[in-house]
Amino acid sequence: MSETAKSRAAELSHLRSRDFASGDPIPLPLTMASIFHTPGVGTGVDQYGRYDNPTWRAVEHALGHLEDAQCVSFPSGMGAISSVFFALLKSGDRVLLPADGYHATRAMAERFLKPLGITCDTRPTPTFLDGGFKGYSLVFVETPSNPRLDICDISAIAKAVHEQGGILVVDNTTMTPFGQRPLDFGADIVVSADTKAVNGHSDVLFGHVASRAPDIISKVTDWRAMAGGIPGPFEAWLVHRGLETLEVRFDRMCSSAETIAQRLKEHRAVRGLRFPGLNGDPSHNLARAQMERFGFLISFELTSEDKAEDFINNCPLIEAATSFGGVHTSAERRSKRGDAVPPGFVRLSVGCEPVEELWKAIETSLDRISG
Ligand SMILES: *Cc1c(COP(=O)(O)O)cnc(C)c1O
Repeated sequence: MSETAKSRAAELSHLRSRDFASGDPIPLPLTMASIFHTPGVGTGVDQYGRYDNPTWRAVEHALGHLEDAQCVSFPSGMGAISSVFFALLKSGDRVLLPADGYHATRAMAERFLKPLGITCDTRPTPTFLDGGFKGYSLVFVETPSNPRLDICDISAIAKAVHEQGGILVVDNTTMTPFGQRPLDFGADIVVSADTKAVNGHSDVLFGHVASRAPDIISKVTDWRAMAGGIPGPFEAWLVHRGLETLEVRFDRMCSSAETIAQRLKEHRAVRGLRFPGLNGDPSHNLARAQMERFGFLISFELTSEDKAEDFINNCPLIEAATSFGGVHTSAERRSKRGDAVPPGFVRLSVGCEPVEELWKAIETSLDRISG
């Protein structure tokens, strides 16, 4: 991790204390309130819970510190992504999405943007630059893509999109602000499903939009207030708490993933392994250039659906579950969710368990299925 990322991580723990009065609680108080004391004109203060809440402000301040940007929080990753679409797009616009990214982003565009007269095209992540960006008002990428872990060049795409007058949105869910900083590479907007590693404890759905452009933040904030897709204060409080250990968890998860990917690659049962941190992975050079860490997701293929199910369900240190980024290592056979991957394709999300114990459990489970 770079020196600036380390200082951001260190400051995060003391952000609140800058404004402390004597006797203030050190941890963040939870404000469960829909209404606030507003005698007289009552402007410039909290008035009503759909517009603002002190607990949201705290989590947005903490996320904003990590993103070096303004942040707007949402009740889910999809809430964040849809706010960007609905606040910024209008009839006649064209958008470009990854063909191989998170399925709900594509499905939402198809089902809800198209009928509004917005054209939605898709393109595979590894060749995203091919064809240019003429005519696109919004270009959306996900890098590394979920679940195949392909990568595209954020700064080259940002430059090409800007030359055509469009804006670039990056879904940074798989990396978190500690792993990759798309805004520093010229992206206009970052969206993130904080449901995953940012909260990290698999007990909350949450999301955020980050941008350094005040007009974008203002439109997205207005959309949230009008549409009413607001996060609950308790969820915001839990995410704030999760953020306090994000750097530690992410560091452990990424380091363990590096060890485990290396060893998985050598295992006879495993083929088609993808991990951007491995020398020789098609994504490796670009990953080195634009990612601070290589992430905690690994994908690979086992020979059949049955073997993949057996591996996942009978490994004592793997939870069979969708989603990723939690403290518990988890895995899923992605064709089960409709991703265009072979039936034995596994996405492994490396958690916070001690790495040698984790590897021993994974190896035992792989040895068993490969007889
Ligand atoms: C999970 C996920 C989302 C959606 O997040 P929710 O909190 O489930 O709405 C969006 N993008 C990516 C890359 C994800 O993995």
